[in-house]
Amino acid sequence: MNTFKYLYTFLIILSCGNIFGQDNNQSSKWSIALHGGAGTLSPDLTKEKIKMLENHMLEALSIGESILSKGGKSIDAVQAVVIYLEDCPLFNAGKGAVTNLQGIHELDAAIMDGSNLKAGAVAGLRDVKNPVKAARLVMDSTKHVFLIGEGASAFAKSQGLDIVENSYFSTDEMMAQNERIKMRTEEPYPVGTVGCVALDMNGNLAAATSTGGMSGKKWGRVGDVPVIGAGTYANNSTAAISGTGHGELWIRRVVAFDISALMDYKGYTLEGAANEVIFNKISPMGGSGGGIIAVDKNGNISMVFNTETMNRAWSKSDGTFGVGVIKGDDKSFKK
Ligand code: ASP
Repeated sequence: MNTFKYLYTFLIILSCGNIFGQDNNQSSKWSIALHGGAGTLSPDLTKEKIKMLENHMLEALSIGESILSKGGKSIDAVQAVVIYLEDCPLFNAGKGAVTNLQGIHELDAAIMDGSNLKAGAVAGLRDVKNPVKAARLVMDSTKHVFLIGEGASAFAKSQGLDIVENSYFSTDEMMAQNERIKMRTEEPYPVGTVGCVALDMNGNLAAATSTGGMSGKKWGRVGDVPVIGAGTYANNSTAAISGTGHGELWIRRVVAFDISALMDYKGYTLEGAANEVIFNKISPMGGSGGGIIAVDKNGNISMVFNTETMNRAWSKSDGTFGVGVIKGDDKSFKK
């Protein structure tokens, strides 16, 4: 009789693992990567600017690391990192976003939870301070995936998100660049979109991306970022992917989903799938190119781009982390 009593008590303790903050499926492994846009080696990319970009990316990374290392969820980590990057004026998302040809900022964002394939996206926002928060609320608090324009703004307001004047998003640097593009002294090119992908200790993958879009875009233009499967995708059985680059190509090639599908249907590794899509599918299409960051279900990270630069940073639970801006110029560290 006593044996049964002990066995019963043992089973109760096992099944109550969660009460003590332990998940039976939990490992101590996590991975995170972020990007701050892909582009060309422009003259204003000075050593000081590179240092600033790297410092801000490492700061953003540390926010995600602290969530993941405490056993937090990947969906919360990617959102927190993207909020930091939206608030940082150096990037083309939130404050610092480019404008359309009418001089108005219109922002897009998406978030996806690989554990249940739930997703939220917003496009054409003009007054929501942090578009990724609106995307998260679309995912969590509506039965929809994608809200746009005034309806998306009204929803964000109703949820209590911070609302700002459109001019809040302007910075001198972005406005000067917009002018040059309007005057046709500079070609529109992708720059400064932000994204984050992560694997948490419970094996859950998540991705989030946010952008002001392509500089020189038409009023009402929506890029790949909020299109689930194009610029943003996460699926626990394959990978979490966030893109940056010439959004029209990313939509036409369904880039993020294609990477996941190559892994799923053809058994590609993450790196193999990302290289196949960026170099064999995107590069031949011309345009201004771009790249992706991704993490797979085993915590492997890929950062693949066909442009001269991609602002990027990554970190893993084994204490290794890195940061880079220019192609081939990656700095790696061990804690
Ligand atoms: N992919 C973004 C868009 O087309 C731009 C970028 O990544 O820089 O809206």
